[in-house]
Parts: sequence; C-alpha cells; structure tokens
Amino acid sequence: MQFVSIASGSSGNCIFVGSDTTSILVDAGISNKRIEQGLNEIGRKGSELDGIMITHEHSDHVKGLGVLARKQGVPIYGTKETLDEITKIKSLGEFPRELLHPIQPDADFSVGDLEIRPFKIDHDAANPVAYRIQNDHASVAVATDMGHYDQYIIDHLQGLDALLLEANHDVRMLETGPYPYYLKQRILSDHGHLSNDNAGRLLNHILHDRLKQVVLGHLSRENNYEELAYQTVRLEIDQGDHPYKASDFRISVAKRDQMSEIITI
Ligand SMILES: [Zn+2]
Ligand SMILES: [Zn+2]
Repeated sequence: MQFVSIASGSSGNCIFVGSDTTSILVDAGISNKRIEQGLNEIGRKGSELDGIMITHEHSDHVKGLGVLARKQGVPIYGTKETLDEITKIKSLGEFPRELLHPIQPDADFSVGDLEIRPFKIDHDAANPVAYRIQNDHASVAVATDMGHYDQYIIDHLQGLDALLLEANHDVRMLETGPYPYYLKQRILSDHGHLSNDNAGRLLNHILHDRLKQVVLGHLSRENNYEELAYQTVRLEIDQGDHPYKASDFRISVAKRDQMSEIITI
C-alpha cells in the first residue's frame, strides 16, 4: 500500500492511499490542478481514481472536489449530512447524483481491494468522520479535524501501519496569537482541532511495535510550526506510560504545499 500527503494543513487537505489495483483520496481540499499534479508526481492519474472519501464539508477538505469528480467521474463518499452540505456550496458547482455515495460511521464498505471504515469525530460540521483504510497487507488512517479524542477514537486507531494525525496548534501560540476570541474558543473546544499535546497523548494510546510511520498534519499556519509540532509530540511520547521512545518510530510533518515522501507499507 502507498500513502502520500499531497497537501495537509488548515489551508487544504488531500491524502492519497493506493494499493496495486485501487487508488483513492481522502479529501480534495486543494485545487483540482494541484491534485492532478500531485498524483502525476507519484506516477498516478486523476482518471485512475476509484473514489474520494470526504471527511466533512469545510472548504479546506472539498475545494477541488467539484472539478475533479466531474472531470474524472470519480465516486464521492461521505455521510449523508456531509454530502447534503457539499451540494449546497455554490462554488463547487453541480454534482451528478450518481457520483454521490452516502456512507455511515462504523459501516465498512469496499472500494476495489480497499476496505474502508469511517468513524465519527467531534468537529463543528454536519456529520464528520475520519477514515481507516485497510487491505490484506496494511492498515492506514487519516484522522484530522478532531476537537478531542476518546476511547472510541483510540479503538479505531489500533494496529495501524501508518497514520496521518492532526497536530493543529500549539495551545500557547493560539491563546496568545492574533485570532479573535470566538475563533480561539472554537478551535480549543471539543468540536475544534487537536493540539500538538493532544496528538502526542493520543499517540501514546496507539503506539505498537509494527507502527511504521506517523505523519503529523493539518497544522495551523498561524498557531503552529513544523518543528514545534514535531518536538511537542516527541516529548509527549517520551513521557508516555508505555515502553516506547519517540525515536522508536518514524515521525514526520506533512507540509501544506508540498507532497510528503511516498510511504510504502
Ligand atoms: Zn473542518
Ligand atoms: Zn480542516
């Protein structure tokens, strides 16, 4: 299986997951042009996509969706509530009905040889989900836009080979930064975004011997920076109540406007 962040950050998210026979995206929150360029860079094509999994309707997750889905005829998967919201966003254009596939949290479905499990996340959107994707060889997950985590989330992230996990903000940078009060409260709330510290704490519950790669993503442009997210998460792991050290794992930070390396599992 291959796992690549084409873009990740509060300005746009698009993650590629592919097996030998199946290619999907989780979110399409950058322009169609950038998505196609990214796919070309890893030797794939937009016309080969078998599906786009949408986490929720915020523009940083759907910006390129209309053009991509119509141009390539790619099926779109999302909860009914998410699909309803997307079809109301004028700038995305019309969606042919046959491309829209409603899914439900915790109801597994298949796209090609990939088995997909959507699971609920707490975020200020209609009915947002994260996705766990697996086949006979590997399991990966994309988990961003989570105000907090609980046992349910932890359970869905066990036994992964690779994970893209939100490390959205540094709490102190956010609190002392330029955002208006209401926005700070929104981000810090249970329906907002996962902080660097909480990303590290969540990881402490799901680390295991065969976890090959953790990619930190969905970083805020204003309230975080790569080195801070990386070091904060590592510190949490080093202090965690388990036999591991951060140096036991490959941890990287996804960039908002550059592809990650290709993670092959
Ligand atoms: Zn969002
Ligand atoms: Zn987002």
